[in-house]
Amino acid sequence: MSSAKPVRRHFASDNYAGICPEAWAALAEANTDHEVSYGNDTWTQRAADLLREVFEKDCEVYFVFNGTAANSLALASLCQSYHSVLCHELAHIEGAECGAPEFFANGSKILLLGGADGKINPYEIGRAVNKRTDIHYPKPRVLSLTQATEVGTVYSLDEVRELVGVARKFGLRVHMDGARFANAVASLDVAPADITWRAGVDVLCFGMTKNGVAVGEAVVFFDRELAREFDYRCKQGGQLASKMRFLSAPWTGMLQDGAWLKHAKHSNAMAKRLQAGLRGLRGVRISYPVESNAVFAKIPAAAEKKMHQRGWKFYTGVVTPDESRLMCSWDTTTTDVDAFVKDLRELIEARK
Ligand SMILES: *Cc1c(COP(=O)(O)O)cnc(C)c1O
Repeated sequence: MSSAKPVRRHFASDNYAGICPEAWAALAEANTDHEVSYGNDTWTQRAADLLREVFEKDCEVYFVFNGTAANSLALASLCQSYHSVLCHELAHIEGAECGAPEFFANGSKILLLGGADGKINPYEIGRAVNKRTDIHYPKPRVLSLTQATEVGTVYSLDEVRELVGVARKFGLRVHMDGARFANAVASLDVAPADITWRAGVDVLCFGMTKNGVAVGEAVVFFDRELAREFDYRCKQGGQLASKMRFLSAPWTGMLQDGAWLKHAKHSNAMAKRLQAGLRGLRGVRISYPVESNAVFAKIPAAAEKKMHQRGWKFYTGVVTPDESRLMCSWDTTTTDVDAFVKDLRELIEARK
């Protein structure tokens, strides 16, 4: 008899989840032979070609180890040290990368914009750009959008177009932090090209770790000129993997038959189910529209504490004050969602 422990999946982060079967199979296949190192291998070539197919564009693609490196190096390639990057005040590049974007861009400053539901208010761009135009202030150079946002909302096609339009008016380049780009595309049901370069995005940091690979994010330059010498930047930043094929092969597994969208659709659907379950609970408030794989909610503190005692892992107050962030993953099941809701309901009702 098998004595395997029952697996309990958590809602703490989509990177708590393991590697999905498609990525795993590609890794195994890449592990059967010798290959050329430092990215000059057939897997990396194929993964980059698949990305060019997905985006219907002859874009320039680089694989780096993680999202912090992807964002930081991409922003560094758009900025001089005296430039600034405009982003939402909740942006990962501002609050969760330990200053790496400023570090890799040799001091470029991050300027914060407001906006409801984790999305930049277009009006804020002009306000930030026009606030100071003198020589003593870092010159705004880049607008950075996070898609899906840090609170799980998604910019619509019109919203992206509007923001890019305003950015262009002020001479800004546009960077997209797509750590959960797959969830956004699955949610919007749009062509990846439409929500990126056709809308005017210059560079996309396309994450796949949270959607089922082990490691490795793609920096996708739609404007090839911006990628000039990016290979040197990657190498100097410690981001040129010698066994690159093990970063890139899983991407072939994800892209070749649409697994990236299948998994993203699934995690989005689990978030919707979780939202529906939480809605009926006394004292629980859903904080933002659930448009990707995240549910943010205010949960009564006593019940939250007891949920942790029951073994459920999730974070509260990390992205926004007082709100619990519940992330669904490619492998979250309806049973997981229902068990979480059932436990929380019991704890809330026991407090009557
Ligand atoms: C997870 C995440 C990243 C990348 O984080 P790493 O831990 O560096 O891989 C970037 N942006 C957003 C919005 C994220 O959620």
